[in-house]
Amino acid sequence: MIKLDISTFVSLHILVSVIAVLIFWIFFEIRAKINGICPDDKYIWRCNICLNIYVDSLSDDISTCPNCGSYITREQNKK
Ligand SMILES: [Zn+2]
Repeated sequence: MIKLDISTFVSLHILVSVIAVLIFWIFFEIRAKINGICPDDKYIWRCNICLNIYVDSLSDDISTCPNCGSYITREQNKK
């Protein structure tokens, strides 16, 4: 049996935990991109009045800011 002191055991435990979190993080990021869960850039709108950034997948050319109610056109959104 391998003899470890408590500080080595705690260090290895933290290291293994961090590596496991990183592996899960990368796995779920790749899975989200493959499944299309991440919103496309065309669905992300930025209000020029209140600088609110939100997702609106229903609007094509004109969107209404949910924060201040102003109208945002696609051309304004690209700036
Ligand atoms: Zn707004």
